[in-house]
Amino acid sequence: MAYLSCEFVENGMCFIYDAAVLCSYSMCMKFEAIKIIEDYKGEIFDWDKIRQIKQEYRDRFAKNDIPPICQGCPSLKVKDWSGDMQLKYILINHWENCPLDCIYCHTHERKKELNKMKPWKILPVLKDALKNNMLSYEGNVNITGGEPTVLKEFPDLMKFFLEKTNIFIMTNTAAFDYSKWIRKAIELKRSAPTISLDAGTRETYKKIKNADCFNKVIKNIKRYQKGLDPIRNSLIGLKFIFIPGYNDT
Ligand code: SF4
Ligand code: SF4
Repeated sequence: MAYLSCEFVENGMCFIYDAAVLCSYSMCMKFEAIKIIEDYKGEIFDWDKIRQIKQEYRDRFAKNDIPPICQGCPSLKVKDWSGDMQLKYILINHWENCPLDCIYCHTHERKKELNKMKPWKILPVLKDALKNNMLSYEGNVNITGGEPTVLKEFPDLMKFFLEKTNIFIMTNTAAFDYSKWIRKAIELKRSAPTISLDAGTRETYKKIKNADCFNKVIKNIKRYQKGLDPIRNSLIGLKFIFIPGYNDT
């Protein structure tokens, strides 16, 4: 049946530090989210319950009863949404730890406190989803955070997605550490990392990111690029956020 809905309502789930929520868009744009499970720290799901909750949202969208937070969202589209509710669009964003301290980051005001937090484990939940036929073979995962390369589970997460699924992996990294798994995923054309650089010089980098590691990061980016053909090279993106008075010359 055709109705107005989005990929996340139908086939998505996002993990934040204390909840499993419907999508990342509302988190980014409105700092709010539709919670599927609250007070969540990586417990194994009752997937029947998850299906039931998601079905309630689907029914609501099918009746054109769009929640206020979703109204006007560019992800909404009318199409035939008959489907199986397997997780196809996933955002992994349940940790905030990062050795950098960008002045524009939402973690800036609570840096010390957030860096002391110990992230819970997401991999057992994903493995359980696979076992219970709740994880799609194809799809898209965005591993963001915090800095992915400092997340202990990150290599195992990459290995899992690469070996057990054909899901395309987006990573938002500052290339603080080099990850052989990011490089491997680029070689396999299975990943597109977006690297947060924000500066063209060591001095500007220090002012924005409060860390003196511009040279190390550039070295890591060069390692990611080394010997890649143009198509694979084009998978690597650089992110610059322009901040008046810092890097907008
Ligand atoms: S419509 Fe937009 S805000 Fe609502 S769940 Fe979908 S992506 Fe999120
Ligand atoms: S690199 Fe990313 S997570 Fe780390 S402080 Fe900067 S914006 Fe925040």
